[in-house]
Order: sequence, then structure tokens, then C-alpha cells
Amino acid sequence: MSPDPLTRLRTAPELSAILLDVDGTLAPIVAHPDDSAVPAETLAVVERLVERFALVGCVSGRRAVEAARLVPVAGVHVAGNHGLELLVDGRVVLAGGVEEWLGDLRTAATAIAPIVAEAGGWVEDKGASLTVHFRGAADPVAARGLLELRAVPLLAAAGLVSRWGRMSLEARPPLPVDKGSAIEELLLDRPQVRRSLYAGDDRTDLDGFAVVDVKVAVHSNETPPELLAAADIVVEGTAGLTDLLASLLD
Ligand SMILES: [Mg+2]
Repeated sequence: MSPDPLTRLRTAPELSAILLDVDGTLAPIVAHPDDSAVPAETLAVVERLVERFALVGCVSGRRAVEAARLVPVAGVHVAGNHGLELLVDGRVVLAGGVEEWLGDLRTAATAIAPIVAEAGGWVEDKGASLTVHFRGAADPVAARGLLELRAVPLLAAAGLVSRWGRMSLEARPPLPVDKGSAIEELLLDRPQVRRSLYAGDDRTDLDGFAVVDVKVAVHSNETPPELLAAADIVVEGTAGLTDLLASLLD
């Protein structure tokens, strides 16, 4: 029988880091991201993790300030926009090279707006990136097809990199920044960390998996198969993840 990958985290929390995605991992997925919330019970567990572990961080696709609003726990480190933003002492710090793409992002947002509207979606302008949401479209499959055909080429022409998420399309500057580099950045401040865990539910969380010891996938009917395949542990939904985090306090 293989040893429990959580044992070393549990027995040496002062040498361990817990990194967490937010939407679909701490907060259940809802139709509109504005309606997301992390259950009080989960926040209470995160609070206790902060007291015990060397580092507790949230690494989200949301803007850093938005992620921090959803996880209002003192001592939690926050990286937003898939690593393009870091919250440092309540201030947003952009990753290197992002600043010069801000104008192109605004121009691209305007260019794709009519196509996105036709697809029944909407554009979330996240400053350092754009997210097209089409979960609310009457026919999400047709919406994705239309975006693939007409919006993705416009984003590519603007020099931006597109990536599909769960009922969403992300566009971002072509920089070597992702959830994995954000985790590495957070860990730089904690050289004592010997073991790390990351939990996520989507394709971009694979970048986080690449740089940690224990990979936890949060399963739902939308979880990408490649994330499940790459995980050491699969938990059932956000409630399952809360149970796992609580078990780290035993
Ligand atoms: Mg997520």
C-alpha cells in the first residue's frame, strides 16, 4: 500500500505550504462569478490552516482583489489573474512585462465584444487579462464554436494567448506566467517549506500541479480528465476538499 501523501504535511505543518484555487475548489461553481461565495465552514478551516502551516495561499484566475474578497482570511497570500497579479500588503503588483500589454488588452476587449454578445456570453475585463464567459449562453456548445471561429483569431492577431476554461475563454499576454510560477513566487518568501500541496478543478490548475508535491483535483461533472489523471488525490466537490483540508488539522 502506498503511504498517505498527506502524512508529511500533517506531521510537519511548519515546513509545509497549502495552495488553493478559489472557484470550483473553495467556492462552489455558480452560474455567474459575481454570485460565488466560499462557505463559512470552509473559511473557518482555512483560518486554522493559516495558524498552523508555513504558508497558505490562494492562486486564482480572478483578479487578486476579487480572490481576496472571496477569502477574507488574514494571513492568506493571494495571487490573481493566473499569476499575472500578486497582492502584496493589500496592493496589487503586476508580474514583470504585464504593464506594456494593458493597452492591447483593452483594444482586444472592444474588438471581440460584438462576437461575444452574439454568442450570448459576456467579457470580464480583468485588467491584466480578459475572460469571456459563456456559461449563461442558450447553447454553450454553439457559443464556444462561434468564439473559436471568430474571437480567438482576433485575440491571436492582438498577440494575446487564448486558453479554454470551464465555460470560459481566457486571453492573456504571451508571458511565462501561470499558476505554477505564482506558487513559486509565493514559496520564495518561505524557504523553510519542504512540502507543498495544491488543489484545483480546472485545466489551468495543471500549472500549479507541476510545481508542488501533492496534487489534489476537485471533481465535478465538468472536471477536465487530464486534471484527474495528473492528481494524487481526487476529492468530490468543494465539500470534499473542505473535508480534506480539515483532515490536515487532525
Ligand atoms: Mg477553479
